Amino acid sequence: MPSERNFLEPPGSANEIRFDETGGHWVLFAPGRTARPNDFKAQKAAAAPDCSRDSCPFCPGREGETPPEVASLRDNESVPDSPGWRIRVVPNKYPALNRPTAPLFSTAAEESGPSRAGLGIHEVVIDGPDHDRDWADLPVDHLGEVLALSRDRLRIIEKDPSIAYIQLFKNKGGEAGASLCHPHTQILALPVVPGQVAAEAAFMVRRGISAGACFACRFIADEEPGPRLVWAGREFVALAPFASRFSYETHILPRRHAASFSDISDGEIIPLARTMREVLRRLRVSAGDPSYHLVLRQAPVLRTGDENDQHVSRFVHWRFEILPVLGAVAGFEWGTGCFINPVLPEQAAASLRRS
Ligand SMILES: [Zn+2]
Ligand SMILES: [Zn+2]
Repeated sequence: MPSERNFLEPPGSANEIRFDETGGHWVLFAPGRTARPNDFKAQKAAAAPDCSRDSCPFCPGREGETPPEVASLRDNESVPDSPGWRIRVVPNKYPALNRPTAPLFSTAAEESGPSRAGLGIHEVVIDGPDHDRDWADLPVDHLGEVLALSRDRLRIIEKDPSIAYIQLFKNKGGEAGASLCHPHTQILALPVVPGQVAAEAAFMVRRGISAGACFACRFIADEEPGPRLVWAGREFVALAPFASRFSYETHILPRRHAASFSDISDGEIIPLARTMREVLRRLRVSAGDPSYHLVLRQAPVLRTGDENDQHVSRFVHWRFEILPVLGAVAGFEWGTGCFINPVLPEQAAASLRRS
């Protein structure tokens, strides 16, 4: 039941997080986001992001149209919020969660029950100054800088004691929900652990305890010689999952076990960039340049070092998932959480290996 305080408050524009006690999932309510460039009306008319250079707030020269940057990589002596950057990180102008003005710890701890203030961190990584070059087109070194800067943001954000989970993701293309074409990646840090993340971590811990080893580490070794391998490097492997939910779904996993992306070393950044670019380029050739979601899957932020944290650290294995949008998620999927996929992962992997 909603708390009385929230129940009696008039509807406003404040963000709020609510827990569905029948389904076990959290929902972020962000009334301000309907003012985004791609609002309901535009989404209904067509899944077309705003691709105009003339009004792009992420292009060099329009730094004043975003909130002030929180990090950047710059080539020269240029000052923050002016041209001369290679990568910029700015707070999201239409955040799903409001940035707290102080650490959330006391608020989060005091507020039990199914509703809490919609506080968290929502940042945008503007991948580069070029309006048209997305991850598949960026030079490996530049993509490596995007990945390293994103990792550094995650390392900073996870120090905030109120943050329980950090999601790094990219929506590429209108069918994937992108509201702006200029290549960008997003970071959304939550004060709660989403239900699906918590359930997967618990599942991997149960499997790990019974097998005495991380399932994903064994899985990589088992899958590599098989028909679902997409690409193999010394540090990373790309695989079509045995039970892919989406056509051409591809996962990129580190060979070195770690539960969180923020654990990636400097030496692993360029190999990851190379793998990522390779997979995205092959996807473009094999599947006709589809829109896609790119999502990080990792462990919740670990704080206590207790037995459960130790298990999560040992048995959850971070990965990136590339989820092409080649069909609609429709009634059956929403009703059951079970997906219908017309392309077997063995077919998808064979095509991606050839591309
Ligand atoms: Zn632009
Ligand atoms: Zn592992």
